Amino acid sequence: MIRSLAVKRDLRSGQSVWQGRRKPSVPHAPLDASTRTDVLVIGAGISGAMIADALAGAGLDVVVVDRRGPIDGSTAASTALLQYEIDVPLTMLARRIGTNDAIRAWRRSRLALDGLSARLRDGGIAGVTLTDSLYIAGDVLGADELRDEAEARRAAGFETLFLDAAALKERFGIEREAALLSYDNVAADPRVMTGRFLNAAIEAGARVHAPTEIVEIDARPRRVKARTADGHAITARHCILATGYELWGAIPARGHRIVSTWAIATKPQTRRLWPEGVFIWEASDPYLYLRVTADGRAICGGEDETLADAEARDALLPDKVAAIAAKLGQLFPDLDTQADFAWAAAFGASRDGLPTIAEVPDMPRCWAVMGYGGNGITYSRIAAEAIRTALTGKGRFRADPDLDLYAFR
Ligand SMILES: Cc1cc2nc3c(=O)[nH]c(=O)nc-3n(C[C@H](O)[C@H](O)[C@H](O)COP(=O)(O)OP(=O)(O)OC[C@H]3O[C@@H](n4cnc5c(N)ncnc54)[C@H](O)[C@@H]3O)c2cc1C
Repeated sequence: MIRSLAVKRDLRSGQSVWQGRRKPSVPHAPLDASTRTDVLVIGAGISGAMIADALAGAGLDVVVVDRRGPIDGSTAASTALLQYEIDVPLTMLARRIGTNDAIRAWRRSRLALDGLSARLRDGGIAGVTLTDSLYIAGDVLGADELRDEAEARRAAGFETLFLDAAALKERFGIEREAALLSYDNVAADPRVMTGRFLNAAIEAGARVHAPTEIVEIDARPRRVKARTADGHAITARHCILATGYELWGAIPARGHRIVSTWAIATKPQTRRLWPEGVFIWEASDPYLYLRVTADGRAICGGEDETLADAEARDALLPDKVAAIAAKLGQLFPDLDTQADFAWAAAFGASRDGLPTIAEVPDMPRCWAVMGYGGNGITYSRIAAEAIRTALTGKGRFRADPDLDLYAFR
């Protein structure tokens, strides 16, 4: 099957807080001749980086290509709250896909986050901090539903603390009817993290080519041949489409859609930040979410709209910045909510909050990684684990036991 990959999307605009610092250096050059490899990874964002790291580390020959530069896609706009808690609460996911599968999906995210955390520590990545999460009552879950959610999570093995209005006010200074506190998520700088994974892959023998655009893929049962915009061919045993939100244009998956989102970062103000520097997110749709950076800024994002058009998205930036700053000020009146950085981006959403990580129907040897939603980076890790297993596992351990959760729907 021959498929075009020419669809492009304006992924982001404005300046994210990570762009205030120099981008990590990743050795790369455009591909200038046809080549062969075990695995072609298309996309040098966090998904492609983690996958390249996992596969090159397992001894496979890996070529990574990107039509932009390394880390120039959506990853540069990510607010990078790395959480095991899926956007869709456990109680709601259980109603949608069944209790056992919902628990399995939640547990797999927990395991993936632990694996990611261990790999980051092993790679000596600076600026990565274990962070707890506060999930505050909103228009999707109120106090009673949050109490049920806490019980469901505990029954599935997740340590979770229910805070009523008084306890929430006392410990975090927030006025809401209730919240859940969960533990050991991870805060990171997404560009630093991605650069580290790409460099680890390069150290293990991977080659990174950018700007190199794949315009067409010819997938056959024994090999995949990708054609670049410059007319070169890359012949590979396997191909991974880690192309982020641009893949939706080429390979639509039911239940997935592209929306627009906005975020701000304040000036550093360590002394005015909220207690414990926890992640905070609302049980609302759309939800507001907050985190702290290593240099003491508050990041706040949300205000999502079902809007795929980039021009309309960018025109809304000033209004959205004002709306986010106002909501931040309502939560924490002492905070300086003025935006030092503001950005807008395309954002993926799926009905059940789960990604698609699977071989593409009719495209043998080609894997799609569509890590949708606010858990995108946790899902990139699941993709790296599952694809490494599929490509290097042996016998009964060749298939990831949770892949059915992430099949094309
Ligand atoms: C504002 C915002 C906030 C977010 N917050 C969080 C969060 O708090 N926590 C979380 O876990 N996730 C979050 N996400 C989601 C997460 O950031 C994404 O899931 C993740 O960055 C996607 O990474 P990726 O590598 O799949 O895509 P990208 O970073 O977009 O990389 C894909 C790359 O593929 C390249 N490409 C595409 N097509 C081709 C082609 N034909 N040929 C060559 N190259 C190609 C592109 O140029 C691009 O560089 C957020 C996203 C946004 C936008």
